[in-house]
Amino acid sequence: MSVDNDVVIVGAGPVGLTSALLLQKMGHRVRVYERHAQQYAQPRAVFLTHQAIRMFRALGVLDRMMETQAVQDLHGRVSDVGTFVDAEGRTLSEQQLNSSHSKSGTAGAFAIYQPGVEEVLEETCQERGVQVHRSTEVRDIVDLGRYMEISIAKLGNDKATPTSTNTVTAFFVVGCDGAKSIVRGSSKMGWFEYEAASSRWLVVDIIPTVPGAMSQWKDNSAPKQILDPKRPRSSVPSQLTRRRFEFMVLPNESTEIAMTDEFVWEMVGLFDCRSDTAAIERRTVYSICGGWAESFAKGRVALAGDAAHLAPQFLGQGLNSGLRDAKSMAWRLDFALRHPENNWSRMMSDYSTEQLGITKQFVIAAKAIEHLIAVSDPEEAEKRDAMFRGGLQLPRPNLERVGTAGMHLGEVDTAYPPSCEPGTLFIQDKIEKDGKIGFFDNVVGDGWVLIANETIDLAAAMTIPTREAFSKLLGGHLVNFSAEGGYGDVSGRYREWFSDSNVVAVLVRPDYYIYGTANTQRDIEAVVRRAIDYIS
Ligand SMILES: Cc1cc2nc3c(=O)[nH]c(=O)nc-3n(C[C@H](O)[C@H](O)[C@H](O)COP(=O)(O)OP(=O)(O)OC[C@H]3O[C@@H](n4cnc5c(N)ncnc54)[C@H](O)[C@@H]3O)c2cc1C
Repeated sequence: MSVDNDVVIVGAGPVGLTSALLLQKMGHRVRVYERHAQQYAQPRAVFLTHQAIRMFRALGVLDRMMETQAVQDLHGRVSDVGTFVDAEGRTLSEQQLNSSHSKSGTAGAFAIYQPGVEEVLEETCQERGVQVHRSTEVRDIVDLGRYMEISIAKLGNDKATPTSTNTVTAFFVVGCDGAKSIVRGSSKMGWFEYEAASSRWLVVDIIPTVPGAMSQWKDNSAPKQILDPKRPRSSVPSQLTRRRFEFMVLPNESTEIAMTDEFVWEMVGLFDCRSDTAAIERRTVYSICGGWAESFAKGRVALAGDAAHLAPQFLGQGLNSGLRDAKSMAWRLDFALRHPENNWSRMMSDYSTEQLGITKQFVIAAKAIEHLIAVSDPEEAEKRDAMFRGGLQLPRPNLERVGTAGMHLGEVDTAYPPSCEPGTLFIQDKIEKDGKIGFFDNVVGDGWVLIANETIDLAAAMTIPTREAFSKLLGGHLVNFSAEGGYGDVSGRYREWFSDSNVVAVLVRPDYYIYGTANTQRDIEAVVRRAIDYIS
């Protein structure tokens, strides 16, 4: 029997659409099912890290996102430093939130308008032949061993009664179906609730209706968290054309009251923002638990995005972590589809272990930050402020390192120079090849890449069987910065990295993490061989 699809993706949110584009680019037959007839047209996430921006550039969607202003580079226009202040406006803590240069060769973070990002992703799916079936709900999935069977219902105007039902088949199913994931439930993948929701936040997006109005609003060009127990609140300069404010809803206030026009204008009035020069684009009361799926992969099913984890908004990780999941999962599914006879279940299990490792860190940190800022009791607030003055640091999880055991050569209890530790994010910058200058991913392409400095002859560093397996099994690229290698290190950043790390070659995974490094030309064969043997 022929199987209809390589991968069925449930949910056309940003994580589902990105996963679809990644897998389509790798040559697979992908289909997306989405319950809603239309995209959700309201802002939610307001920034993306450089890691997500790098992925969008490699996917060929970033230029359009920048042109349509769905993505904006605010470095230099908005402060890179976020400030925590007490009720009197005195600084308690400063946090570096952005920088001119990240590991990806761009600013560290970019402002986004989530509906605009989703629009570009879905348009690109259509242009590239990925079918996105809207008004179609996935009701159940069943693992039949060699493939999955997916039950779908076409929804009419009356969403309760389907106009038709059907089943389709796929080798793999990816659940990008949000917090109440049916994929997670159908596959009996458990959910661990780290902590229940403990505070409610009124999240408001405001757009100016009069030119120049935004410049009159307080804290216009710097992220600020105001730890005033009378009303904990924050101002997030989200985009040049809109602004995000967040206000804690106090325990004695009802959600219904907090959603009224009167309440919203009273709140944003604290930032000198008024209804005669501004309009409310979106308001919602948001209260969120911290938790994660006990596993992100089981047999032929994987989870990504909100289906796999939930955290309060304070670290801005919801969408960013979902996009990391997509990138980390896609190359493993690609391997599973190309080499069904090989050890793909081990790779899917690594996807789960690695992403769970990062997830636990940011969920726990986001909940800890919530406990510090959602304080409405004056005495408790005074104690907290005193702790800040005594040097209390906010949790800053390292989200550029997969950290736990997984597919990399990092050994527990071994000290590595931070720049070249296996399992950490590798750098990218501009390089040159045959007169073409561009970012590394756009010049070299996607996939595994073995990069060597100018002292190495990569052709001589590996035996023929290893070179062949590297190319066939891993689809790997060789990049040699030697005179004969043909690649130019335009910015000098790679030379600097090799010199700082004191290694001669690095093997980088398709999701930009370091697999392992070689100290001498002789070590290169062993590093590459270990990656091949791991999945053979
Ligand atoms: C107010 C607010 C502020 C936020 N701020 C930030 C921020 O600053 N930074 C950040 O990174 N994140 C933020 N987030 C979180 C971010 O928006 C989400 O993490 C992100 O949208 C998750 O994307 P997703 O694709 O995983 O899930 P979703 O966007 O939830 O998409 C899931 C999709 O699956 C569909 N679906 C569900 N079940 C089925 C089914 N059975 N069949 C078919 N389709 C189905 C749904 O209709 C939906 O379209 C915020 C969220 C909110 C609400």
